[in-house]
Amino acid sequence: MTGLVFDIKRGVTKDGPGLRTSVFLKGCPLRCAWCHNPESQEARPERAVTTGEICGREMTVEDVMEEVRRDKVFYAPTGGGLTITGGEPLAQPAFTAALGAAALAEGIAVAIDTSGFAPWSAFEGILAAKDAEIAKPAARPAARGSGKAAKDAESAKGAARPAARGSGEAAPLADLLFLYDLKCLDPARHCALTGVSNEPILANLRRLDSLGARLWIRLPLVPGLNDSDADLAALRDFLATLRHAESTELCPYHPLGLEKYAKFGKTPPFARREPATPAEAAHWKAALGV
Ligand code: SF4
Repeated sequence: MTGLVFDIKRGVTKDGPGLRTSVFLKGCPLRCAWCHNPESQEARPERAVTTGEICGREMTVEDVMEEVRRDKVFYAPTGGGLTITGGEPLAQPAFTAALGAAALAEGIAVAIDTSGFAPWSAFEGILAAKDAEIAKPAARPAARGSGKAAKDAESAKGAARPAARGSGEAAPLADLLFLYDLKCLDPARHCALTGVSNEPILANLRRLDSLGARLWIRLPLVPGLNDSDADLAALRDFLATLRHAESTELCPYHPLGLEKYAKFGKTPPFARREPATPAEAAHWKAALGV
């Protein structure tokens, strides 16, 4: 199986906890006005008009895992791992599930950085990979108590849990985290700003939350587009209904994507050249209570 990948970055300290390798998949069904990765949107390789370089190439799961393993020694000690991002990783659901399963099977924690705009079946693929890993004798938690059952469980764990390559340490339990974007709760403006409905995004998020999935919520906030008082109040109220969101992170607008639009011969829909100001970010934080 292959996936269309446009970048792999090692040593990343964003996109999840600890030290990470971020794998960027090409293709996204959204067209966010502020997108800072416009080269990620089309689900096909593209040539940069200024440099001629090709963005996007088919890679196998093993090709990607070879890169991901290079920093494996750093993942467990820092709480890091693999982040599958994009583009929209769930727009390549089979590849994302297979890559996630391969990493989890080697004891590498996985984060999925998603817009949430995908059929529920795409989430099921990666959730199944995690469940399969947890079901293995190696990853089952030890039975409580000090009786024979507990000893048997510990013994099975030691025998079957794969050793982390090169470190000789036991691999951690399968860990799957969703980095989930919330852009705008107003249905009509979400459509206007991103080109798609927010209905499946909210439904998938509620479903993940009800299943107890690990969730970090990310809020891309863009001055004048999705940061009105009503927008912020709606976000705050919605966030208060989630039971399992571990954190909420603001992602203030920055104009770094504008150069990429030019590089790929595209016109940015929103061309503010100034990043969000510290005052804007402070106002958002106060209004959201984060
Ligand atoms: S979801 Fe992300 S990659 Fe897709 S268009 Fe929006 S900002 Fe760009």
